[in-house]
Amino acid sequence: MRHRIAVVGSGPAGLTFARVLHRHDHPVTVLERDPSPDARPPGGTLDLHEGLGQLALDKAGLRPEFQALSRPEGQAMRILDTDGTVLRDWRPRPDDRANPEIDRGQLRDLLLGPLDVQWGRGVTQVVPGPRDGVLVHFADGRQETFDLVVGADGAWSRVRPAVSPVAPHYTGVTLVETSLDDVDTRHPDLARLIGDGSVAVYGVNRSLVAQRNSGGHVKVYTKFRAPLDWHTNLDLDDVEAARSSLLALFGGWAAPVLDLLRHGTAFVRRPLYVLPESHTWTHVPGVTLLGDAAHLMPPLGAGANLAMLEGAELAESIAAAPGPGDLDEAIRAFEEQMWARASRWAKITTAGLERLVSPDPAEALALFDQVQPS
Ligand SMILES: Cc1cc2nc3c(=O)[nH]c(=O)nc-3n(C[C@H](O)[C@H](O)[C@H](O)COP(=O)(O)OP(=O)(O)OC[C@H]3O[C@@H](n4cnc5c(N)ncnc54)[C@H](O)[C@@H]3O)c2cc1C
Repeated sequence: MRHRIAVVGSGPAGLTFARVLHRHDHPVTVLERDPSPDARPPGGTLDLHEGLGQLALDKAGLRPEFQALSRPEGQAMRILDTDGTVLRDWRPRPDDRANPEIDRGQLRDLLLGPLDVQWGRGVTQVVPGPRDGVLVHFADGRQETFDLVVGADGAWSRVRPAVSPVAPHYTGVTLVETSLDDVDTRHPDLARLIGDGSVAVYGVNRSLVAQRNSGGHVKVYTKFRAPLDWHTNLDLDDVEAARSSLLALFGGWAAPVLDLLRHGTAFVRRPLYVLPESHTWTHVPGVTLLGDAAHLMPPLGAGANLAMLEGAELAESIAAAPGPGDLDEAIRAFEEQMWARASRWAKITTAGLERLVSPDPAEALALFDQVQPS
């Protein structure tokens, strides 16, 4: 018997889950709130780790396509002092495939492939029933029933309340993002500063990282400790006002570093929220969570990787489960495995955020030296 399975969300978790099920010829309904794949900018570049995101792509049969698209040279990392002195300049060996970068939009298209996503289908609530499966309520007032609903709908999941009352809390660190286009032709000095990968600068309780995406696009991420209402008197849609405010916040830093803000096109605020480091729940038959919906953690290179591997593993477990009783057992076992791994990474990334946005900028350098192969 084929289970009626729905996954809510077409991010890295939902798409990897659906793609691996598709590879096993198992039907799955993908429900996505966005009206189309290009309704929002897809976001920056992601580094996919060998034992996590790349393993998930193996399970989806997509490793060769990933290798063709990804940028191993994007692993390069330069660290500057706030006065512009180069403190570290690390480049990967030509054969280093440990954490190559891929644009989020390229990864999405790769995973989408043959999948038939139902766009514009925002889910508002999921209600597990005692007998007839799980009822999904949609924003347009419609309802549908499935045997299994997988919540891969990110930080503010509408599926999560069906299994857990826990909501994300603010870390005390806010990220403001901007970007530059055609950096090689329009800003060659900045292109040289960034190199093939990233340049990072760490100051007291703040940091700035500029990261090369494909096609000469650069994302600049500032992070700083601030109250959640830091922006109350600032209209972030007013680009010049936002720029002045950030330039003041990073005042005294080297001119080439501040140029990354001076040339930024728009400024987007992303306060960093997390779920508790060990977020678990009492198993609810017919509903489970993947990715940020299950374990939102600081953005330190793990979230999408975990989301993808979980999606792949859950799909494989479902494909291997012959009957309805087996399906539930498979999901229980999957959840135990996900919780243990995610909790380890949540501790690592939470400690990492403390050190990267720290009163003592030497902490960030020490962390880099600890994790980066020499
Ligand atoms: C600035 C930044 C940089 C990052 N860099 C990295 C990195 O380099 N490496 C890494 O591994 N991770 C990184 N992360 C973390 C990573 O982005 C997330 O962990 C990852 O996107 C989680 O994937 P997901 O599929 O669980 O959720 P999401 O990517 O959030 O996808 C959720 C999907 O669900 C949809 N959705 C939401 N609500 C509903 C609803 N009610 N109904 C239907 N659909 C809905 C959304 O539209 C979306 O498509 C970064 C995060 C940030 C903020």
